[in-house]
Amino acid sequence: MTLSLLYSRQAARSIAKKLAPTQTRLLASGDVTTLQPSSSRVTYNNIQPPNRRFIHSSSSTSPRQSTKAPQQFSPFQHRSRMLSTKPLSPDNSNMASVTPTPSDPQQFMHTTGASDAVWTHLHPYSANPTFPSLSKDLSTDICIIGAGISGIQTAYELVRRGKQVVMLEAREVLSGESGRTSGHLNNDLDDGYIEISKKHGEKGAKLAAESHAWARDRIGEISKELGIECEYRKLPAYDVSQYPRGTKEWQDEEKELKEEADLQAKLGIESHYDPNLTVKGWTGKIDQRGGMVVGNQATFHPTKYLAGVLKWLKEQPNFQCYTGTRVMDVHEKGIEVLGLGHKSVEIKTEAGHTVKAEYAVEATAIPLQKLSIITELEYYRSYCIAIRVPKGSVEDCLLYDNAEEYKYVRLTACDEKDDYMVVGGCDHKVGQEETTTRYGELEQWTRERFPQAGKVDYAWSGQIFEPVDYMAFIGKNQGCNKIYIITGDSGDGLTHGTLAGRLIADEIDGVPNEWESLYNPKRVGSIVKVLPSLVSHDLQINTQYKRFLQTDITDIEDLKPGCGGVLNTNPATQKPVAVYKDDNGKVHKYSAICPHLKGVVCWNAAEKSFDCPVHGSRFSKEGICVDGPAKANLSPFDEAAEKAQQGMTAWAE
Ligand SMILES: Cc1cc2nc3c(=O)[nH]c(=O)nc-3n(C[C@H](O)[C@H](O)[C@H](O)COP(=O)(O)OP(=O)(O)OC[C@H]3O[C@@H](n4cnc5c(N)ncnc54)[C@H](O)[C@@H]3O)c2cc1C
Repeated sequence: MTLSLLYSRQAARSIAKKLAPTQTRLLASGDVTTLQPSSSRVTYNNIQPPNRRFIHSSSSTSPRQSTKAPQQFSPFQHRSRMLSTKPLSPDNSNMASVTPTPSDPQQFMHTTGASDAVWTHLHPYSANPTFPSLSKDLSTDICIIGAGISGIQTAYELVRRGKQVVMLEAREVLSGESGRTSGHLNNDLDDGYIEISKKHGEKGAKLAAESHAWARDRIGEISKELGIECEYRKLPAYDVSQYPRGTKEWQDEEKELKEEADLQAKLGIESHYDPNLTVKGWTGKIDQRGGMVVGNQATFHPTKYLAGVLKWLKEQPNFQCYTGTRVMDVHEKGIEVLGLGHKSVEIKTEAGHTVKAEYAVEATAIPLQKLSIITELEYYRSYCIAIRVPKGSVEDCLLYDNAEEYKYVRLTACDEKDDYMVVGGCDHKVGQEETTTRYGELEQWTRERFPQAGKVDYAWSGQIFEPVDYMAFIGKNQGCNKIYIITGDSGDGLTHGTLAGRLIADEIDGVPNEWESLYNPKRVGSIVKVLPSLVSHDLQINTQYKRFLQTDITDIEDLKPGCGGVLNTNPATQKPVAVYKDDNGKVHKYSAICPHLKGVVCWNAAEKSFDCPVHGSRFSKEGICVDGPAKANLSPFDEAAEKAQQGMTAWAE
């Protein structure tokens, strides 16, 4: 039986969970009423989504203006390429037009979905540094697998300390979640310190606050040191209730926000509760004033920053990077007992090359071993839109509401006239719900609060990994002495990945680090506290195997060009087929069985991918693995599928 987690980031952050046992809707009057689950929300396997809010209209409360001075961006070069997107209709019926259909056949080598994140606006994929693929065997001090923020920050810390580092990346650099993030750098953590301290005690919560603060500042220091122009700046974070001011639910949430603010202050975070908090630019009728104010948070342009660090690394004699180099196996070799003998690590690539190293770091978002820590994680999709707002019309801040699936907001540069407001949220379990309605929900939420919002230019989604006890797993993998892992971002993976760099470099150097026990993948205390939930999550995961008895499409003829689905018309053979009909109407067939633990994948229409509902592995429409824990691709079942896969990987040869 596979064990995984149960607690979601939303479950922890929210208060709402306790307050909203059934779905709620804010009415025009500002009243709150309970509703039956929406029949319009499509889920796979008849599993209803968790509690969530449906906001249809606004309260009549008068608009408020912030007293805080708006922060302006410096002017940025406007990139000329714009996506051809249309504004959404109120019923989201033209939602599909927001998700671009890129003509680039290498799209899934650049990024983990069919859509592009807003970061490509000022930093296209072509601006990333390039590296060759590995064509020989190598030896090194440390081999880092994965070129996202975790791998790059770890490489930076180790290279600075004089270590020989080899980095291996399956696709292109920044092709994982680091290119699809929303870019908050905070120690106002998603899970909330009330929940974190229940699992890790106040001492653990303080270490969490301090380590994420260090990571937030470290990115600022490095960007300054290396001269990287990446919009890095400090700004406040605001946490507001999901309910309209004055309702009983609002009052209850405000009370909890106050408690959270008091605890944060005790832990050394610049946090306080302000009953009259307003946000400049929130002039829509929905009034959720009041909330927690957390000072000294930060944000940046993630891909500009990481490309800058990679450029610096590329110039260092003790750093090598190989892209298009998929790792298939990492294992320890040798025996070491009580300081006698010697253990090292061997890393095998798909192309058959071997890297020998003293240590390996799996910075692959999800570890490469079949069982291990992946059973203590839960896998979510999270959605974002980038919507134009006139420059200076919205306060430059981080904003979160407190809903079960909360919304989050930040600004990034667009052009001389506008900024982009990045609005994210609407998370759901991978492969278990319909994917195309979320952008409309985010847009509606934004327009109801920020009427000055203009056109949606970017809409994308990404993967979040929720650890059972809210803290990432960073350190030696279970059962290993020389293999480190970095996983379980909990929605705070930019800071988790950055602090991982220091923690792992310290461990390898034998420097004591007080964060070690909090993030140790071998920890048991906090995991034991959530065992009942682990079991319930495990049961939910196991129900996903019933897809062996289901079919999503009954006839390939019914598929429109550019769409996919799983055909399983003869469950007795247990050979469900993942079918993709390309834009020219050509059909490609793959095995629908995930190579990890044999779940049956589902079609993700928003990202044109096949997603596994069991442990969240994802595959491009060509069957290429883009999110682990799977390492291998979906097996092609016909010539068209085989050719499509070969075309995707040929660039690396
Ligand atoms: C929509 C969204 C919003 C988010 N917002 C925030 C936020 O505001 N703040 C925050 O702190 N966090 C946020 N996160 C989380 C954060 O972006 C991620 O946790 C973080 O980017 C993960 O970085 P990583 O380096 O660990 O993984 P990735 O960036 O995914 O990098 C892993 C790399 O490993 C490679 N790889 C995988 N398998 C192999 C293999 N077998 N061989 C070789 N290479 C391999 C992949 O191709 C990939 O390039 C958000 C995430 C999403 C999806």
